[in-house]
Amino acid sequence: MVDQALVSQVAAALRHARRILIITGAGLSADSGLPTYRGVGGLYNDKTADGLPIEMALSGPMLRRDPALCWKYIAQLAKACLGAQPNEAHYAIAELQRKKPECWVLTQNVDGYHRAAGSPPERLIEIHGQLAPVYCQSCAAQDPQWTANLDRPLPPLCSRCGGILRPSVVLFEEMLPELALETLHQEMAKGFDAVLSIGTTASFPYIHEPLFRTRVCGGFTAEINLTPTDQSPQMDAFLQCRAVHVMSELVSHI
Ligand SMILES: [Zn+2]
Repeated sequence: MVDQALVSQVAAALRHARRILIITGAGLSADSGLPTYRGVGGLYNDKTADGLPIEMALSGPMLRRDPALCWKYIAQLAKACLGAQPNEAHYAIAELQRKKPECWVLTQNVDGYHRAAGSPPERLIEIHGQLAPVYCQSCAAQDPQWTANLDRPLPPLCSRCGGILRPSVVLFEEMLPELALETLHQEMAKGFDAVLSIGTTASFPYIHEPLFRTRVCGGFTAEINLTPTDQSPQMDAFLQCRAVHVMSELVSHI
């Protein structure tokens, strides 16, 4: 049961805010039926079928050393994402962005569901990249077809030059995309009146910083999560529930 007074408080803060940042993580897409990953790993509680931690199987070094093995797990991730779809909360966030032209989304998710739900790409920062399309590591050609056939031999090869394809996802041990980071820093410099963190338990600087800066400047911060995180005590409001149970109602008050 969600506390209605808290919902009203968050709705009022978002209504009065001009610049808003919504931060989303695996918990949001879990409501679509996707497995939650640490960074991109909870599908694998311990070791993968190959006896490796997922952080090693899905890493940049593994893509170079054993592309077929790395691709086995990329393809599993892609199948899970293709087998599900955006949920009510993704649509409510896109609706909020229509109502609030300076509302941004910063997501750790690589499933592309924010775009699918109608979030404008120019106000969407996919900090861990996206699964589709894939591109050739040798000639940079994009292959828009690969999602149509995830059962082809792995690793998938470039139809133009035979190079090994990869998704523009940030694998473990890889750097965050520069453009996405730059955009985030530019928007953070302008400041946010309100930040809402949804379904993320991660403690990366790019999540802490906008929350911290907004708090210091007197802005409003709130969190929606099934379980409290180390950030929860600092929030102006903490809604302990699934985003899918509360986002539509929240946005209906704005
Ligand atoms: Zn190529």
